[in-house]
Amino acid sequence: MLQANFHIKSRDGLSRIGEFDTLHGKVSTPTLMPVIDPINPNIIPIPNIIELGANIIITNAYLLYKNENVRNFVLDKGLHDYLSYEGPIMTDSGAFQLMSYGSVEVTNKVITKFQEDINVDIGVFLDVPVAHGTNDELKEAVKKTIERAKEHILNRNQQKETQWVGPLQGGKNLDAFKQCSSFMKTQPFEIHAIGSVVPLMENYDYLSVVKLIEMTKKIIPINRPIHLFGAGHPMLFALACYLGIDLFDSAAYVLFAKKRRYLSTFGTYLLEDLDYFPCSCKFCSDTSPKDVRSWENNDITKFLANHNLAVSFQELGLIKQTIKDGRLFNLVLKRSMSHPRLAEAVQYLTKTEMSNNLEPFTSLSYPKARFFSHPWSLSDPMVIRYKERLLSRFQPFKEIAVLRPYSYSLPSDLSTHNFYIDPVFGLIPEEWKPIYPLLQNEAYFSTDYNFDENYIKKFILTFKEKFTHIYTFGVDKNSSYYKSIELDSIPSGSPISDNEKLRSILSYQFGINSFEKLPTFIFEFSRKTNRMKNFSTTNGIPWGVIRAHDNLIIPQTDLIKWLHSYMQYPNGRVIVENDVESFVSDGKSVFCKFVKDTDKKLRIGDEVIIVNSNDDLLGTGTLNYSPQEISFFTKGIAVKTRKRKDLQIKKFKK
Ligand SMILES: [Zn+2]
Repeated sequence: MLQANFHIKSRDGLSRIGEFDTLHGKVSTPTLMPVIDPINPNIIPIPNIIELGANIIITNAYLLYKNENVRNFVLDKGLHDYLSYEGPIMTDSGAFQLMSYGSVEVTNKVITKFQEDINVDIGVFLDVPVAHGTNDELKEAVKKTIERAKEHILNRNQQKETQWVGPLQGGKNLDAFKQCSSFMKTQPFEIHAIGSVVPLMENYDYLSVVKLIEMTKKIIPINRPIHLFGAGHPMLFALACYLGIDLFDSAAYVLFAKKRRYLSTFGTYLLEDLDYFPCSCKFCSDTSPKDVRSWENNDITKFLANHNLAVSFQELGLIKQTIKDGRLFNLVLKRSMSHPRLAEAVQYLTKTEMSNNLEPFTSLSYPKARFFSHPWSLSDPMVIRYKERLLSRFQPFKEIAVLRPYSYSLPSDLSTHNFYIDPVFGLIPEEWKPIYPLLQNEAYFSTDYNFDENYIKKFILTFKEKFTHIYTFGVDKNSSYYKSIELDSIPSGSPISDNEKLRSILSYQFGINSFEKLPTFIFEFSRKTNRMKNFSTTNGIPWGVIRAHDNLIIPQTDLIKWLHSYMQYPNGRVIVENDVESFVSDGKSVFCKFVKDTDKKLRIGDEVIIVNSNDDLLGTGTLNYSPQEISFFTKGIAVKTRKRKDLQIKKFKK
C-alpha cells in the first residue's frame, strides 16, 4: 500500500489545509470529489470538472464491474485509460447500492481484487452501511463491517499500491460507531470515511453529524484524512471542515440538478422559485433564471450541475482562505444562519468541552485580527487558553491590582498592576495587552458594560494572597467581591517598568516564574507603534526581538541559553533523535518523524528549544505542529529552525 504521507500546511483549530500522495499525484485538501457516472458519459466532462477545481474524482467500482463490456475494458486497459484521466481516482465498492437496493451481485473479495486490478488510487472494501436502522441493526452493521474489513485485509495484494479507506459505520448509534472507529484505527488504512450520514443530512440532523465527526477525531489517528461520505452540499462544508473533515464527495451536483435544484451556501432553491441568481460564477453571470427555464431539459440539467459544482468549489476556496486567516469560525457562524438545525449544530460547538478539544490545535497567532462578532465567539479556543494562562502564569511585581473598564482612565504614576476589564477576555493586564489576540481583535460587544463576573471573581480568589489589595473601579460596586476606594487614596510611586513588562511577557509565553540571573535590559521601541522592538544588555549584547505581529519574544543566543538553564526539562523543549543533531545545528528544519518527544504545553507558533535526549542544546525555532500531532506525522515540518551559528552542539552541556 502506498503511504499517503498526509501533512498539514495551514490550520485553524482542527480544520486544516493539507496534502497527501496517491499513485496518480497529490491531493490537496479540503476538497470535494465529484462523482463520475461510470457507465454513461458524465453530464460534465471530466476535463471541465478539473477546470472547476477538482483534483480527485470518485466513481463506482461495483457499477464498472457489473457491466461486462466495461469490466473487460478496465481490466485490460485500467480505469484511468477508460476515463481518459490521469489524476487521482477513488472508487466506492457498491456498499451504497447495498444500502439502497438491499443486495449486490459481488463479494467483498472480488471487489477488493477488482479495484486493485483496475489500478484505482483509493478503494473501499464492501462495508455495510445502514440508512435508517434501529440501534440493533446499526450494531449488526458494524459487526459485519468489521468482519468484512478483516477478510479484505487478508485478501489484499501487498504488491499493489492501492490505498484503502476504513469506513466508520454505526451512524446514530454512537456506541456502535465508537466500536467501529476503535477497530478501524488499529488497522492498515490510509484514509477513513464516515458512512451512513446521508439519511441524517436528509433529515437535517446536522447535530448528529457533528457528534459523529467529534468522536471520529477523538479516536482516529490525526494523520489520516477523514472523508464525510455522501456530504455534497456546500452549506455544510464550513462546519465539517471546522471539525477536521478533509474530503467530501458529491453526487449532489447532478442529483439536485436533475430535480431542477440550485445549490447555494444559503440552502437549496428550486429553479422555478428563483427570480435572481445569488451567484456570479461563469455559468450564472451569463444568463437569468427566466432564460434558463426556457431551455431544453438536458441543457437545464447541465447548467445546474455546472453551477452546483462551481459554487461548491468556490466555498472550499473561501474555507481555505479563512483557515489561513484564523477566521473559519466566523464563516461557520455565517453559514449557521442558513438553517435553524444548522444553528443548533453550531451552538453545540460552543460548549466548553469542544473548545478544550480545539485549543491544543489552535496557533498562538494568525496574520489577521481575530473577530468576535457573536456571543458564540466567546468560546473561541484562544479565549479559553488566554483565560487559563492569566490564572496560571501571571506573576505580580506590585502589591496592588486595579481592575477597571477601558473608559476609566487612571493616573500614570500609580504603583499598581492595572487590568482592563475586557468583554471578551475577562481581564487583561496592561503589560500583556500587545500580545495576540488581546490587541489584534475586533469585538462588537460594548466595552463598558459587558464583563464576565464569574471570571473576575475567579481571578480575585486566585490572586488574593499575591496582592495586598485588589480594587475594582467603574463596575457594579454593590457586589461584595469588589472593594473600591477613592482613587486618591492609592499611593503613587513607580509604575510597572519596561524590564518588568518584559518579564511579564516571558511569564505569559514560557511560563517562567522566577527571573534569577536575568540581566537588566535596555529597549528599542518602534517609532510607529511605540511598542518594544528588541532588547539587549547594557553592554550591547542582543537578547531578544519582539515579533511585530503578535508581540511574542524571539529569543537570541543568550536568552536561549538562559531559558535552557532555568526552564526545567522538558519544559519549552522539542527533543529530537540523536542522528539529526548536526542538521539542527546547521539550521535545517526538523521533520515530525525525527522528534522523540515534545513538551505537551507548547502550542503552534511557540518559540521552542531544540535538544537531544541528553538535554544538550541544539538550536531554536518555531513550532509548526501541535505536540498532540507530531508523533503521528512523518513528512510535515515540526519545527522551523532558526539559523544560529553561535549555538554549537553540546557546547552548553549542563
Ligand atoms: Zn453560479
